[in-house]
Amino acid sequence: MSKTFRIAVLPGDGIGKEVMPEGLKVLQKAVDKFGLKLQFEHHEWASCDYYAKHGDMMPVDWKERLAGSDALLFGAVGWPDTVPDHVSLWGSLLKFRREFDQYINLRPVRLFDGVPCPLANRKAGDIDFFVVRENTEGEYTSLGGTMFPGTDREIVIQESVFSRIGTDRVLKYAFELASQRARKHLTIATKSNGIAISMPYWDSRAAEMAKKYPDITTDKQHIDILSARFVLQPGRFDVVVASNLFGDILSDLGPACTGTIGLAPSGNLNPDRQFPSLFEPVHGSAPDIYGKGIANPIAMIWSAALMLDFLGRGLSGDEQQPYLQAHDTILKAIETVLAQGPRTPDLGGNSNTVALGDAVAQLV
Ligand code: ATP
Ligand code: MG
Repeated sequence: MSKTFRIAVLPGDGIGKEVMPEGLKVLQKAVDKFGLKLQFEHHEWASCDYYAKHGDMMPVDWKERLAGSDALLFGAVGWPDTVPDHVSLWGSLLKFRREFDQYINLRPVRLFDGVPCPLANRKAGDIDFFVVRENTEGEYTSLGGTMFPGTDREIVIQESVFSRIGTDRVLKYAFELASQRARKHLTIATKSNGIAISMPYWDSRAAEMAKKYPDITTDKQHIDILSARFVLQPGRFDVVVASNLFGDILSDLGPACTGTIGLAPSGNLNPDRQFPSLFEPVHGSAPDIYGKGIANPIAMIWSAALMLDFLGRGLSGDEQQPYLQAHDTILKAIETVLAQGPRTPDLGGNSNTVALGDAVAQLV
């Protein structure tokens, strides 16, 4: 008997509630076609509507309620008119990331036909890589403080943390991902010429890890020139691994280079599968277009496909194939719809959310 995956569905706020049904529609087609075993559990919390009624973003026992899930499918969170953004974010998404030790933030970067690319002379296929961001430590800590506050001698110190476990596990994930790809190339973002303690350590752990993956080619690039090359030579990348801060920046810059910040999906992964991983569009709740039915559902649908790929890779042999095939089929369907239409207004068309969801579902 193959495993049934439990998926917690959390549409959240704003257009999260409009794009989630399209993601589920496409998933259902994939379930029917490929015989996937998914069981959905729907939750209306992790939303500002829930906050308005209960004074908190989530029930107190949220962790127990989700602990049995294999994945969380998340829409978007935030409704700044009623709840300040830092309250909604820290009260939901960031709790998931921390409590479920989702130490990888994965962002595919890919250029599609039919999507205007801000870089000149690029066509579909020229840009196709992944950014792997460390998601739990590094430069994002609350360690530090102020000396001599309010005086001319005022000094503010902010620490970074690079643990061996935290560094090795993100590097290992990136090498593994590169080993599954055709080009088998890993770019390691660093800044060891300027940041003289933590980044040389990061480099040395990367060099150590590389010994275990002799078939992967690597190059180490300082973050400044690396950012420039995202724009000037995006075709040279396959998998890029970066610390929390550098990865944060690269994982927005990457999708921006393909004109797709509104199409971009993401995975917040616990690759050890001790806890559920979370899949969500990169975009927010977009209050300015909510209720009009014109939100582009592709980022949500692509996130659902990423989830299938991740779940499949946790299975072995024959059981894995239907999940990976479903992912590839959904990606192909997205590719076709972006090339041929229909198109929502953000893509220059006058179609709507449901029509795009239908068009993708029909091709699965
Ligand atoms: P965050 O929640 O990450 O803070 P934000 O509030 O800054 O994000 P978004 O909610 O992503 O930003 O919206 C930014 C702009 O992009 C808005 O004008 C919004 O309408 C547009 N946008 C975002 N997502 C989509 C989408 N799926 N389809 C069409 N337009 C979108
Ligand atoms: Mg917002």
